[in-house]
Amino acid sequence: MKKKPESDENAKPAESGDEKLPPFLRKLHLPGCSMWSAMLWCMVGALLIAQLWGQGAGESERLSYTTFREYLDAGHIAEVTLVERSLEGEFAAPVQYELETGEIVTLTTFTTHLPVFGIDALLPDLEARGVHVTAKPPMDISWPVLLINILPWAILIGGLYFMSRQMRGRGQNIFSIGQSRAKLYDRRKEHTTFDDVAGAEGAKGELQEIILFLKEPERFQRLGGEIPRGVLLVGPPGTGKTLMARAMAGEAEVPFFSITGSDFMEMFVGVGASRVRDLFNDAKKAAPSIVFIDELDSIGRRRGAGLGGGHDEREQTLNQLLSELDGFEPNEGVIVVAATNRPDILDTALLRPGRFDRRIAVDLPTLDARHAILKIHARNKPIADAVDLKRLARGTPGFSGADLENLLNEAALLAARRNVDEIAREDIEEARDKVLMGLQRENLALTDQECEFLAYHEGGHALVAAILPRAEPIHKVTIVPRGRAMGMTQQLPRRDKYLYSRAYMEDRLAVMLGGRAAERLVFDAATSGAADDLKQATRLARKMVLDWGMSDRFGHIAFGEDEDQVFLGEDIARRRQYSEATAREIDEEIRAILDGAYEVATATLREHREALDRLAELLLEHEQIPGAEVLALVGREDDLHAENAVPCNL
Ligand code: ADP
Ligand code: MG
Ligand code: ZN
Repeated sequence: MKKKPESDENAKPAESGDEKLPPFLRKLHLPGCSMWSAMLWCMVGALLIAQLWGQGAGESERLSYTTFREYLDAGHIAEVTLVERSLEGEFAAPVQYELETGEIVTLTTFTTHLPVFGIDALLPDLEARGVHVTAKPPMDISWPVLLINILPWAILIGGLYFMSRQMRGRGQNIFSIGQSRAKLYDRRKEHTTFDDVAGAEGAKGELQEIILFLKEPERFQRLGGEIPRGVLLVGPPGTGKTLMARAMAGEAEVPFFSITGSDFMEMFVGVGASRVRDLFNDAKKAAPSIVFIDELDSIGRRRGAGLGGGHDEREQTLNQLLSELDGFEPNEGVIVVAATNRPDILDTALLRPGRFDRRIAVDLPTLDARHAILKIHARNKPIADAVDLKRLARGTPGFSGADLENLLNEAALLAARRNVDEIAREDIEEARDKVLMGLQRENLALTDQECEFLAYHEGGHALVAAILPRAEPIHKVTIVPRGRAMGMTQQLPRRDKYLYSRAYMEDRLAVMLGGRAAERLVFDAATSGAADDLKQATRLARKMVLDWGMSDRFGHIAFGEDEDQVFLGEDIARRRQYSEATAREIDEEIRAILDGAYEVATATLREHREALDRLAELLLEHEQIPGAEVLALVGREDDLHAENAVPCNL
C-alpha cells in the first residue's frame, strides 16, 4: 500500500500527532490527523444540516414590544403563551402588518420579547382584555430547537460508530490502529508439530535449537557465545517455511507471536512503525518469547530503491523494525524468526550480524523428502495399494511441498468425481499431468497430417531416450495436447542428481533434439513444434560451455557469473566478461555441441527406423504409451527391472 503523504505534517511519525491530543486520547494511539479531519467534516455537515432545519421551520413575525402593546390595546390579540420572557401569541383575526422592507404581510401569529420589568405590568392588562394566557416552564423547548442542539452530536457519534464498525470488520478497532496485530499462539491449541514437516532436516534442527536457546540460555552462554537475535528462513515459495513456524509455535514452550509483514501496513503513515513498537513491547513483556514475521520482504525491501522518495510508510516501518532489533539486549530472551522467498531484495541492514544474522535455507525437497511429504499428505486420504508414492516422488522433481500437497488434493478430487472410494493410480497420474502441464485440450482439432507429425516427433524423443545408455528411463509418451504442449515424452529420473557428467549431458541433448531429428528424417521437414525443445537444448549447451567448462576448445574456464541465488528467482542478467572474439567462439562451440547431439539423435533414429515407424503408429492409435512398451520395441525390456536398482549413470 503506497500512500504518499499529503503534506509534511502528515509525514511525521505517530507520536508527533499524539502530542497534540489531550492525555486521555494519547493513550489510544490515534494515528496522525486523519481521524480528526474526518470528525471535523462530520461536525461541519451536521451544523449545515441543522442550519437548514432552522430556516425551514416557519417563523412567525417577531414584533417589537411597542407594536405588541398597540395590538393588545386595540384588542386584536386572542391568546399568548409565556416562556420566561419570550411570548408567542395568536391574533383574534389575521392582521395586515408592514415589514421593514415595506412589504405587507398577513399575520396570524407573532412572537415578541418582553423587557425585564415589563411582565408584572403586562399581566393585568392581558387579563383585562380577556386574553387567554398560558405560561410554560422554561425547559419545554420546541422541537426544531431541540434538533439544532442534538443533531450535530447525533451525526458525530453515528459517524464514529460507523467508522469503528468498518474497521472492526477488518479485524481492528478504531482506537487500536497502532496496536500490534500479531497473533499470540496458544500452544495447547496449535496441533502442528515438527512431525508434520517432512524433509528439511537441517532447517528443523536449527529451529529446534532456537527453542532450546530460550529454554536453557545459560547452557549456551557458558562459553561466552551469544544467542542469535534473528533467524531468517529463506527458500522458494511452498517449501514449508510458514509450516515450520507453525510447528515451532506448537512445540516451543514460550509465547509465540506471529504476524505477516503486510499486517504492519495501513493507510495511515506511521501506523506500521507504531505496530512494530507495540509488538516488541508485548514480546519483551512475555520474554522469553519468539516473534515470527512471515513474508518479511513486504516490509524489509531495500530502502531508497523505489521511486517514492525517502519518506514512505514502508520505510518508517522498516526503520522501526531495525531499531527494535538493535534495541533488545541479547539476554532479553526475544528471538525473531522471519521468512522470505526474496532475500535478494531485502535491505542489507537487516542482514548484518546482530539482526537476522542466521540464515536457514529451506530448499526444494529432494527425492526422499518428496516421498516423505507425500506420505504425510496421504495420511488422511484413502489411496489404493497399487499407488507407489516412491515412484510418484521420482516423477515430481522440482515440486515443492505445496505442489505435492496440491497434487494429492487434485487426485482426491478427480477420484471423487468418478464416485469411487479410493484414489487410484490413474487419478494420481492425471493429477500430475494436470499440475505439470495444464488441462487436457480436448477440443483441439488437429488434422491427420499434424497428428502424424506429432507422433513422429514424440516418437523420436522417446526412442532416443530408450536407446541412449545414459538417458533417464521413459515414463510415458503421449500426443494428447495439454496446456501449451502438444505432446510430451516424460522421463523419470532414477534419483535426484547433483553431479552431471558431460556424457550424460550429451545424451540428454540428443533426447531433446530427437523430436526435430525424427521430423527431418521422416518428412524432411521441420515444424514449429520443436521450438521449446530447441530453446531448452540451447540453454543447456550454453551452460555446458559457459559454466561447466565442458567444451574442448576452452577447457576448464567458467565464463558465467556466480549463480548461487538462481533458485530464489533473482534476475540474472549475465554480465559479459569476455571479448567480442571470445563471444563468437563461444557461440561456435555451443553450436558444435548442439550439432553433435543432433547427429547422435539422427543416427540413432536411422538405425532404428522400423521401431520409430511402429512407435508412431502405436501413438496414433492409442495416443499414450507407457515407457515399458517403448523399451519393448527396441528389445530392452530387461532395463525395466534395473530401474529400481538405481545404478550410477553419471
Ligand atoms: P512457504 O511458507 O514456504 O511458502 P508453506 O509453509 O505455506 O510454504 O507451505 C504450504 C503447504 O505445503 C503447507 O501447508 C504444507 O501442507 C505443504 N508443505 C510444504 N512443505 C512441506 C513439508 N516439508 N512437509 C510437509 N508439508 C509441506
Ligand atoms: Mg509462507
Ligand atoms: Zn519435442
